[in-house]
Amino acid sequence: MAIRFDRRIFRESGQASWRMEMDKFPTGEALRKRNIMIEDSTCPLCGSDEETSEHLFISCSIAFIVWNGVSSWCKIPNIFVFSITDLLGILAGLRVSEKKKEAVQGIIMLVVGVYGVLETTLNFLTLRLR
Ligand SMILES: [Zn+2]
Repeated sequence: MAIRFDRRIFRESGQASWRMEMDKFPTGEALRKRNIMIEDSTCPLCGSDEETSEHLFISCSIAFIVWNGVSSWCKIPNIFVFSITDLLGILAGLRVSEKKKEAVQGIIMLVVGVYGVLETTLNFLTLRLR
């Protein structure tokens, strides 16, 4: 499942809308809440915890590696976040030009989209659905 991000979502509607987009990913927790029976709701990337949006994008060991890569590639301070709200708020705290903030925002959105597709693909390949 590909989720499209519109750059204006973040700017015009604020973080709440973007968070809602992130919560649309079919995580184990989201599937359970929709009464879709799954055999295993642990994270398919690390296998260490229940798969929630918060886990997928923040506390997963793979997310840590991904965000370190993003911060290194964008030449910004390391991204240390404890919640999706923190992740969405890093742009406000960056001391860089507005042009660079837009570039970093685009990269974060791209990474979230690719990361979500990877997670969905792994879920499909492991056939967690009953
Ligand atoms: Zn994980």
